[in-house]
Amino acid sequence: MIRLEQVSKLYRTERIETVALHNVNLTIEEGELVSIMGPSGCGKSTLLHLMGLLDEPSQGEVEIDGETIDRRRRSDRELARLRNERVGFIFQQFHLIPDLSVADNVEIPLLYRKLSGKERRSLALAALDRVGLSSRTRHFPTQLSGGQQQRVAIARALAQNAKVILADEPVASLDPESSATVLESLRVAAAAGVAVIASLHQVHLATHYADRIIALRGGAVLQDAPTATFDPPAFAQIYDRTGERQVARSG
Ligand code: ADP
Ligand code: MG
Repeated sequence: MIRLEQVSKLYRTERIETVALHNVNLTIEEGELVSIMGPSGCGKSTLLHLMGLLDEPSQGEVEIDGETIDRRRRSDRELARLRNERVGFIFQQFHLIPDLSVADNVEIPLLYRKLSGKERRSLALAALDRVGLSSRTRHFPTQLSGGQQQRVAIARALAQNAKVILADEPVASLDPESSATVLESLRVAAAAGVAVIASLHQVHLATHYADRIIALRGGAVLQDAPTATFDPPAFAQIYDRTGERQVARSG
């Protein structure tokens, strides 16, 4: 569903050049729930942005759902269409529109499609049902808990029929119980065949919900394996500061 080949990303500012990602090769299949892990600054957000077509690699290739994304050959309009059809993005701070009801928020990406108002509403309500929010469709975002707001964002991606859901620290600002409900909704999406990629910091959540863990260190893939193969020492290594410096020195 997603393929990255030899992907690197450099950020240039006036005096410094940062290698945010270095020669990343990955394939993520439909129905997989993948947790991206690693210390702050290791490149998690950059990786998710590239996968979500929100930014472009400095080198290498990104392919989504069989289509290679080459910005030189695609117009902005075409990229926007691809994003709208294939990718749902979930942010730490929910990104819901406060003046719109829950159902209206879920309908937003559908406004760009040729659908009647009735069809849009029925897709939105079905998606809200799948994340357990049937009783909240007329509420406004501020009337919901953080976990419920995040599930509205997931419902929005489901209504959109996204092939890929990218979630950048989706539970970082939530309490443990809300975090669990959000991860369960992401599992619902994966069970429906969506490729779900989420950056997570909590080892217990990754262990419980992810099929696979990709650990980044200094912009490179440190480990990429099924969750069951990670034991406590493997998790400790992901956040090992000494190792981080070594990798930084060897470039
Ligand atoms: P993470 O999400 O794992 O904390 P990021 O992907 O945000 O990591 O950042 C990876 C590296 O790229 C960091 O060194 C960060 O400072 C740098 N970086 C991220 N975004 C930018 C940017 N827009 N301009 C310059 N440097 C950036
Ligand atoms: Mg980040």
